[in-house]
Amino acid sequence: MSEYGYLACVDCRVSMWLGKAVTQPDTTIDYYLIGDQARNWQRPDVSRALWKILADHTAHQITVIASMGEQYQDWTAGQDTNGLFTTIGGDGISDVPFDTYLAGLARPATATPFSSSTQSEADATHD
Ligand SMILES: [Zn+2]
Repeated sequence: MSEYGYLACVDCRVSMWLGKAVTQPDTTIDYYLIGDQARNWQRPDVSRALWKILADHTAHQITVIASMGEQYQDWTAGQDTNGLFTTIGGDGISDVPFDTYLAGLARPATATPFSSSTQSEADATHD
């Protein structure tokens, strides 16, 4: 049976689907994987959703929970009086797909190549 992970804001009852737990032989979780085409950190939608959820929930109680864990079992069994979580990237009825969550988010800034003259100018402004 596979184990899955969620990044969850306990205060807002919102979580982000992290995918299947990929484990070491000793069952330590090595990383989470959504699908099998690319690692999560190589997927722009997953990466942007992660950074957006961190910004949206600044100063809130954020945790990573596993589907086999007691905390997750309590929440999904409805034993938590604050109700179930809405999952970003999940496929449940009340969940929010990544593209919907990211709609309206500003496009990523164009990267500016780093140069030594830029660093020197930056250093000069902090003297
Ligand atoms: Zn929150």
